[in-house]
Amino acid sequence: MIGLYNVSAGYGKAEVIHDMTFEIKENGVYVILGKNGAGKTTTLRVIAGILPVIKGRVIRKGSVGYLSHSFALPNEMTVREALNFFSKVLGGDPDRVIEEFKLSELLDKKIADLSQGQKKRVAIAKLFLKDHEVYLFDEPTENLDPVIASEIRSMITSLSKHKTVIYTSHNLYEARDIGNYVILIDNGRLALYKPISEIKTKEYVVGIRASEDLSKVLDGHYQGEYFIVTLNDPSEVNNIVLELTKRNVKIFEIKEMKNPLEDLLK
Ligand code: ADP
Repeated sequence: MIGLYNVSAGYGKAEVIHDMTFEIKENGVYVILGKNGAGKTTTLRVIAGILPVIKGRVIRKGSVGYLSHSFALPNEMTVREALNFFSKVLGGDPDRVIEEFKLSELLDKKIADLSQGQKKRVAIAKLFLKDHEVYLFDEPTENLDPVIASEIRSMITSLSKHKTVIYTSHNLYEARDIGNYVILIDNGRLALYKPISEIKTKEYVVGIRASEDLSKVLDGHYQGEYFIVTLNDPSEVNNIVLELTKRNVKIFEIKEMKNPLEDLLK
C-alpha cells in the first residue's frame, strides 16, 4: 500500500509537487501521466523514498523496487560482474535473472558499451534480483525498440496481477493498453486519479472501412477512407456491425480513432 497525504516536495527551496494526496491499495498498473516538467518523476521519487518531502506524509507498506531514468549501473563492470555485485549487496540469484531477461549474450560486455535498451534490460534484471510488492518504473519503454518495448509491456501486465506497478509514460496508447488507473499530474498538482476504464467510455470515436458508402446508412462523416462515427459506448459497435451485415455491407476494418486519454493532456 502506498499513501501520499498532503505531500509537497521539490529540489532545494523550489517546490515542484504541491499538496498531493492519494492512496494506492489494490494491485494493478497505475500510469502517471502529465506534460513534460509536470512533476511525474518527482512524484515517483517521493513514492520510492529517495526524495524527502518538504511537507506532508508518505506511507509505504511492503518493499518497493525502483527503476530510475538513469539506471544507476556501474559503467566499468561487465554485465556478469555487475549482476554478481548487486546480488551480493541486495541478495537474489543472478543466474535466475540472466535467464529471465535473456542476458546471456551480454554477460561479457561492459555496461558502458551497451545500448540504452540493453542497459534498461540489465537495470530491470537488477530490480528483479529481489521480490518487491511495489514496482516503480520511470518511462520503462522510452527509447526502446518496439519488440523490447512490447516485452516490457507484457512483463508489466503479468507482474500487475500480483503486484502494484506504478509507472510514468508519455505514451497514451500504451497507458490505455496496459494501465488500470491514471494518475494525472498538472503543474505539480494531482489533477485526476481514476480507473482508465471510466475514462474510456465518455466518447468513443471509431472509423469504419467498408464496401459501400456508409453516409447513406449511418450518422457520421468521411475522413479519408474511414467513415467516422461517434458513439457513447463501445458496445454500440455491435449494433453497427449487425446493421451493416443485414444490409450486406462488407466491413473491411473498424478501428478506434481517438484515445480518450488525449483529452487529459490538452
Ligand atoms: P516530469 O517527470 O513530469 O517531466 P519532473 O518531476 O522531472 O517532471 O520535473 C518537474 C520539475 O522539477 C521541472 O521543472 C524540473 O526542472 C525540476 N527538477 C527535476 N529534477 C530536478 C533536480 N534534480 N534539481 C532541480 N530541479 C529539478
